[in-house]
Amino acid sequence: MATGNKMDMHPALIGSLSPTVSPDKVINFSPGPTSLPKSVENEIAASFTKSGFTSLALSHRSPEFIDILDKTTATLKRVMDIPDNYEILFTHGGGHGQFAALPLNLCHELSDVATYVVNGTWSARGRDEAQKYCNAETIDGKDPQTNKFTHFPELTEEDINVQSKYVYLCSNETVNGIELHRLPKLPESRKHIPLVVDASSDFTTKPIDWNGDNVGVLFACASKNIGHPGLTMTVVRKDLLGEGKASPLCPGVFNYTTNSEAGNLWNTPATFNIEVVGLLMNWLAREGGVAANEQRSIAKSQVLYDVIDNSNGFYATPVPNKMLRSRMNLPFNIKGGDDTLTKKFLIESWEAGMVGLRTLTPFGVGDYLRASLYNGVTEEQAKTLAQFMITFAMNNA
Ligand SMILES: *Cc1c(COP(=O)(O)O)cnc(C)c1O
Repeated sequence: MATGNKMDMHPALIGSLSPTVSPDKVINFSPGPTSLPKSVENEIAASFTKSGFTSLALSHRSPEFIDILDKTTATLKRVMDIPDNYEILFTHGGGHGQFAALPLNLCHELSDVATYVVNGTWSARGRDEAQKYCNAETIDGKDPQTNKFTHFPELTEEDINVQSKYVYLCSNETVNGIELHRLPKLPESRKHIPLVVDASSDFTTKPIDWNGDNVGVLFACASKNIGHPGLTMTVVRKDLLGEGKASPLCPGVFNYTTNSEAGNLWNTPATFNIEVVGLLMNWLAREGGVAANEQRSIAKSQVLYDVIDNSNGFYATPVPNKMLRSRMNLPFNIKGGDDTLTKKFLIESWEAGMVGLRTLTPFGVGDYLRASLYNGVTEEQAKTLAQFMITFAMNNA
């Protein structure tokens, strides 16, 4: 085996996504941006060789693009069962843009209260950004014993300020591996407060009871499950729109009312990225819709959690409550985080074509490796990783 120094320079250890196997053998477990389903990627490639302009070159006010936009919105509404009292917005600025856009749209005054459930790195980041534009109160989801994010806190009446303009939560904590498989119910006396949901990393993988769960706003940056970076999808309930509702400081590009009234054409939208979301929604419709997609997500994650749980402690995952384990992002460590074995695992899995298992995040490389199982990853590919993990454990126990 190579010396410590040499090993540290291995491309697998700095997050290289180009292993030496043939390209069709590469499996992308990246937390995002990442690969889309193969058939969608083929359609995207084909769109560059067909006659006429690609959507990258289409005027956003041309009939050709309006047709793409209308079809994308219609298919999205249909497959995700989005009722007519919701508006679909496509904006720039990613998830982080929405972190700021939310308080700027839903809080007219800086002193307006919003309640943030903080149970992971992304909800913390959303709260920190919102704090600039509103009075963000926190429900702390850290485990009091370990001081770590490993669960989702109970939402009690006392914890939710009755004046809150909204209650914010992240339905899948991408880094921590904590997922709400269904949205929570607020206490009876707080049911009037709209929920705001960051579904960046789990959108399309489970049904949403939009009106039943009192969803006010739900957003997803495209680069995990539905497309490419540069586009964010935001679903807003229409009663939250209207002249004078947003803060007077809200920039036009982030103003929900402005963009909805302009039919997503207030400024130039990300034309190509919108077409890609449409192709992904067509794929979802072809593949049995959201119910079938949820079953696939359960199956893909289960094979890996089974390996972890049956490994006699060789592998461990940080979320104890199985009901909260993420189907999208599975953090795991090897022999309690053993450095040499972790590096060996990364190099050998990379050489077998599996990439993205350890990436840099804004929060560092973290204590855990992480397998992300978005729409671009098939059941077969999840099984390939599971088999690799079993063999690796056998050879290194
Ligand atoms: C990736 C991610 C974000 C950040 O999105 P950007 O497009 O990078 O701004 C926000 N929330 C969650 C849950 C994410 O997974």
